[in-house]
Amino acid sequence: MKAFMPSNLNGTLTHFPKEEFEPEEGSIMSTIYNPKSSKAEEFISHEEILETLAFADEHKNDRAYIESILEKARPVYDERGRVHCDGLSHREASVLLACELPDLNEKMFKLAEEIKLAFYGNRIVLFAPLYLSNYCVNGCVYCPYHAKNKDIARRKLSQEEIRKEVIALQDMGHKRLALEAGEDPVHNPIEYILESIKTIYSIHHKNGDIRRVNVNIAATTVENYRKLKEAGIGTYILFQETYHKESYEQLHPTGPKHDYRYHTEAMDRAMEGGIDDVGIGVLFGLDKYRYEFAGLLMHAEHLEAVHGVGPHTISVPRLKRASDIDPSQFDNGIDDEIFEKIIACIRIAVPYTGMIISTRESEAVRGRALSIGISQISGASRTSVGGYSEEERPHDTEQFDVSDQRSLDEVVKWLMDLGYLPSFCTACYREGRTGDRFMALCKSGQIQNCCHPNALMTLAEFLTDYASEGTKKCGEDLIEKELLTIPNEKRRNIAKDHISNIYESNKRDFYF
Ligand code: SF4
Ligand code: SF4
Repeated sequence: MKAFMPSNLNGTLTHFPKEEFEPEEGSIMSTIYNPKSSKAEEFISHEEILETLAFADEHKNDRAYIESILEKARPVYDERGRVHCDGLSHREASVLLACELPDLNEKMFKLAEEIKLAFYGNRIVLFAPLYLSNYCVNGCVYCPYHAKNKDIARRKLSQEEIRKEVIALQDMGHKRLALEAGEDPVHNPIEYILESIKTIYSIHHKNGDIRRVNVNIAATTVENYRKLKEAGIGTYILFQETYHKESYEQLHPTGPKHDYRYHTEAMDRAMEGGIDDVGIGVLFGLDKYRYEFAGLLMHAEHLEAVHGVGPHTISVPRLKRASDIDPSQFDNGIDDEIFEKIIACIRIAVPYTGMIISTRESEAVRGRALSIGISQISGASRTSVGGYSEEERPHDTEQFDVSDQRSLDEVVKWLMDLGYLPSFCTACYREGRTGDRFMALCKSGQIQNCCHPNALMTLAEFLTDYASEGTKKCGEDLIEKELLTIPNEKRRNIAKDHISNIYESNKRDFYF
């Protein structure tokens, strides 16, 4: 067998020439592994994952090899200041995740921070989930919305109730939503989802509006994905839950979601339907985290290999307590230390992919996660149907316990106190910079002239329309300081003018 060299691997996520996905003769790659395959069991090859884990075990104390992986993943700047990263294959990243050498683990975290800073600066994008309906015909054993749960109140929002929820969200300052609904062809058919999206985009309350609606609904047909695209969704999000097929089938004993292949191939159908921003993720705690990690990166490699663009975002939810769900009944829970390492390794492996953490996690965990990779967080979330228009946080329809229960104003202030720049930017989606056009922006070196002023202008909107006095003062000082860091003078002056306009008038929605 030929000695393993990283260059033999398929799967550098963002720039890999498609021809190179053919396994080389004599490579240690499993011969049946084919990232370009359209079949779930082939692009998420169980055998390839097992080989990857064995390979990672073999090299977890291999200092020279781990150092070479870290070196390969380092950001490189060209003479025009454009940053470029090669990313890592699932095998290389799995070696990092398994690494047992403390000093190299430390280096790994530092590298994750460096990459985070190179591509995302100090910006953190904010969003909120909006639960439309908890009717669901599936039997997912880890989710309280499963069909057999009689303890949970079932609720579906009417268009009028959606209006109230959206106004409550706009009054907090949110501009970007993630729609959530269970799978139920009778209660939540695609027509209901489409109508709800239309309602949400149509509401303009005071200076508020929702400018990007991401959608997290069950795997569906190409035709339905096309309809979602036409309705103007941002990202289509679908978590795999677990990539381990056998576990998947046990954890989803009933309902359409039981079909592993249909679920795993959903993103291919979404892309065929014209949605080029897709968000993937697993629910950590269901199966062994190293298996899930390799599967997640192989999924990203597959999308890149077949569609020319990897996932727009990766989410990292962990199993949480809810209604009739007790996380201690699942054997594969991960502690904070492993969780942080997973985040850092994903950041290093797929530098161009946004990473999301929700209010499932506590303030402390979220704080640490931000520095090592997370680029988007939810704020002031209510994970119940109709939760935003209630005075008190309702628990009877909640999907999971919210650990971070702070208001959006508090989250924004907290981010600024930690040295971050909260952003409500939705510009790319609205400018049509999705899929590979978004990636082109990331690689163009223009992020600092684009995302940065957009973050400042949207923060100025938040401060003027929704913030408390303390947050406002802190934010205005931050904006003044951060304006000076926009490299392009023309852009800097335009952003300054727009921000003055926002402070002094009701003019809103400026972006580059
Ligand atoms: S995870 Fe989704 S599909 Fe499964 S029971 Fe919950 S809402 Fe339904
Ligand atoms: S400009 Fe695009 S990439 Fe940058 S923060 Fe806004 S939406 Fe995101």
